[in-house]
Amino acid sequence: MDFAESQEHQALRAAVRDIAAKFGPRYYAERAAARRPCAELWRALGEAGFIGVNIGEQYGGGGGGLTELALVCEEIAAAGTPLLLLLVSAAISAEMISEFGTEEQRQAWLPGLASGAAKVVFAITEPDAGSNTLRISTTATPDGDDWVLNGTKYYISGVDEAQAVLVVARTGQDERGGRLSLFLVPADAAGLARHLLPVDLLLPERQFTLHFDGVRAGPGALVGAEGEGFRQVFHGLNPERITGAALAVGVARYALGAAARYATERTVWSAPIGAHQGVSHPLAKAAIETELAALMTRQAAWQHDHGVPAGESSNMAKYAAAEAALAALDAAIQAHGGNGLASEYGLMPYWGLARLLRIAPVNREMILNYVAQHSLGLPRSY
Ligand SMILES: Cc1cc2nc3c(=O)[nH]c(=O)nc-3n(C[C@H](O)[C@H](O)[C@H](O)COP(=O)(O)OP(=O)(O)OC[C@H]3O[C@@H](n4cnc5c(N)ncnc54)[C@H](O)[C@@H]3O)c2cc1C
Repeated sequence: MDFAESQEHQALRAAVRDIAAKFGPRYYAERAAARRPCAELWRALGEAGFIGVNIGEQYGGGGGGLTELALVCEEIAAAGTPLLLLLVSAAISAEMISEFGTEEQRQAWLPGLASGAAKVVFAITEPDAGSNTLRISTTATPDGDDWVLNGTKYYISGVDEAQAVLVVARTGQDERGGRLSLFLVPADAAGLARHLLPVDLLLPERQFTLHFDGVRAGPGALVGAEGEGFRQVFHGLNPERITGAALAVGVARYALGAAARYATERTVWSAPIGAHQGVSHPLAKAAIETELAALMTRQAAWQHDHGVPAGESSNMAKYAAAEAALAALDAAIQAHGGNGLASEYGLMPYWGLARLLRIAPVNREMILNYVAQHSLGLPRSY
């Protein structure tokens, strides 16, 4: 077992950090307040090869895996510039197209995803299904060589920035319930209407409700095998959880760094506030939880990249990292006193993101269900 980080990975971290630092927390906070995407940062990371670091070299990617993509997520977040669409476009969509797409789909999509020029967002959540994916009611019905999609998705991030949406739809019924399949649908397809779904988080990425009203998709839109969507989606959800965990670890490190600096400088009695254990211990505790989550995230990414089952580690990493990020933000805000809520100190956007990561891409309770059932062998509760 070797815990030393390779020189390549150290160099990758440093290079990503350099780019993200040119933009920094003020840029992120401004974009978050304006609900405008961090397009320039995305472009800069894409041009340097970091958005497609997990995509095959034959498609213009970096030829790495989730380990490298997780490092990218960690470093941009630690620099104060977390990008939510890396979890969706780079992790889920690129992984699923690489793994299950036809050669034609790979040629069509992976080079753009690798350079950052294209984004493919992911639509699974529905108003009446939520955490229970098998209950989704969006359908794809065969019609000649085409598929016709009908239904509603909501909370779909970044549709306004994307060229296509990877949609999970029912193509029939089997013993588990909905027989699911995956479709690549152009974001401007006829019959696909999108409506902004306002959220009170300070996020640069916007969310949408999508209405599919007889959206016609050609035979080339089906990704992987018909009816295999459930298995395929699960292959893509581990990458989303791993990158979500990495983003949370980075956000936690960013908050702890800001809090440590502030608590060292701020003196309201005779010593800096950081000398008081009421201030330092919550920060230290969150730092421990963050680094433990980082270790589990690395294990999950390694397992995914080596074809070892990664479900348990991915879930545990995502749980631990989201909780660590929330603890770090809470302690950092408290250490800043009133300034913790001030726009000038810019902590609130990260608090909102950390709070989101406890709910999405999978909520804390569904992870506890998974661990109870799969790790502990307890009876299934749902
Ligand atoms: C800002 C934002 C961005 C998002 N981006 C995307 C996106 O790009 N694509 C996409 O498809 N979705 C996206 N989502 C949706 C997100 O993945 C879901 O909100 C999340 O998976 C939870 O589903 P739900 O909201 O339907 O909650 P529900 O399933 O209704 O659950 C509500 C709560 O009930 C509890 N709960 C539910 N089931 C159980 C159970 N069996 N046992 C114990 N407790 C349970 C949990 O606490 C859960 O938080 C986004 C959401 C937000 C807020």
